[in-house]
Amino acid sequence: MNSTDIVKKAEKYRNDCVTFMRELIRIPGISCQEKEVAHRIVEEMKRLKYDKVWTDDYGNVIGQIGHGPVRIVFDSHIDTVDIGSRESWSFDPHVGKVEDGYIYGRGASDNHNGTVPQVYGAALFRDLGVDLDKVTIFVVGSVQEEDCDGLGLQYALEHSIKNVDFVCMGEATNLKIYRGHRGRMEINVVAKGVSCHGSAPDRGHNAVYRMAKLVNDIEKLNDRLQDDAFLGKGTCAVSHISCETPSLCAVPDLCRIHIDRRLTHGEDKALAVRQIEELPSFNKEHMRVEILKYDAPSWTGKILETEKYFPTWVLPEEHPLVQAGKRSAQDALGRDPEISRWVFSTNGVFSMGRLKIPTIGFGPATEEDAHSTRDRVKVDDLVIATGFYANLPREIAKIKKA
Ligand SMILES: [Zn+2]
Repeated sequence: MNSTDIVKKAEKYRNDCVTFMRELIRIPGISCQEKEVAHRIVEEMKRLKYDKVWTDDYGNVIGQIGHGPVRIVFDSHIDTVDIGSRESWSFDPHVGKVEDGYIYGRGASDNHNGTVPQVYGAALFRDLGVDLDKVTIFVVGSVQEEDCDGLGLQYALEHSIKNVDFVCMGEATNLKIYRGHRGRMEINVVAKGVSCHGSAPDRGHNAVYRMAKLVNDIEKLNDRLQDDAFLGKGTCAVSHISCETPSLCAVPDLCRIHIDRRLTHGEDKALAVRQIEELPSFNKEHMRVEILKYDAPSWTGKILETEKYFPTWVLPEEHPLVQAGKRSAQDALGRDPEISRWVFSTNGVFSMGRLKIPTIGFGPATEEDAHSTRDRVKVDDLVIATGFYANLPREIAKIKKA
């Protein structure tokens, strides 16, 4: 493959990319336990002589380069999911095996694949020495994304670095430009009943029977949820069911289900709740819909309670940020990038979904490898993405503010 000019320049960071990626893989850092990973990233930013490096009160890492009026965030999350059963891996997920041009290990495709090229890409942009008075880049290593998408970035955008104009996330896109994804919600429905002796069930009302009818209706609801050509279909799935009963010889007086709801274009929280409440078997008197809350403390001990509602977001293809991303990718890839969207959810649910800050994504590695026992990233693609992130601030600087 012939390297483009910017990728030739990014080559000087190839070995650093490999070393840094392997070191991140060697530090386990599931959600709420990212302290050591954060410290390692701080160390790397300091070594690269970022203008300013700090961890905020919530535990996010933030490195700053440039001093211009256009404020850009490069975001990638620094937590990973756990490894699951060690036996299901054919290699040690915390070593950072290098083989056939790939680096393997937990987090390689989600989301150290974003952190590494963003950290070096911003440094390379600085090395090029242009537009440092036009833009300020904040490279954010956000916490707790796997537990609660958007939460770490929420703290950064609301408390640590305000008035941000544009966000680019490093989640896996396989070197494509992504501009949105479906939203999601975590919903419980609780049905109440009246308990009585199990030997004479007619004396009570069985909460499980009430819920069973609703579960049937939810299965049918899934089939008629709306579809969207770009994002795909909205879906709902009952993913857990439990009941409370005084005894195994009694009629249960409470039944609870959990629903995994994915929201497509045009679907939001109010609609999703109403759709359940309007099902024929939804018994207003004895049932209620709840949206779950997230309140786990970050590694610094700080709690930021939030509803588990993660809005759908899409940035139009003609938006200047998508176009700036496209030009940056053209320069790095030497061809037109594909423009698409994620299947999974990202921190964009907050930056774009709630704050409406224009957001896109570009990262090496594939969604299919994320959270899997093939977790990996191609070394060449880390270098290409470093070139992309060095290009992007210059392309964004060309966007005229409305
Ligand atoms: Zn991720």
